[in-house]
Amino acid sequence: MSVTGPPNSAQPVETIYVDDHRIACDGGGGALGHPKVWYEMGDEGKVECLYCGRVYIKKDGADPH
Ligand SMILES: [Zn+2]
Repeated sequence: MSVTGPPNSAQPVETIYVDDHRIACDGGGGALGHPKVWYEMGDEGKVECLYCGRVYIKKDGADPH
């Protein structure tokens, strides 16, 4: 298994839906921000930021919930 959550458990995990399979995350800036990092989504159409724990999901992803 991977990391179960962000180190700072007081910070709610956000799920962000995006159009592109390539996203940049900077933690939203401010005190909770982090250096901007880029992520490429794989076949899952989903990626979790290793810094802030935000989950990015591609809107077009084949995941009919
Ligand atoms: Zn982040």
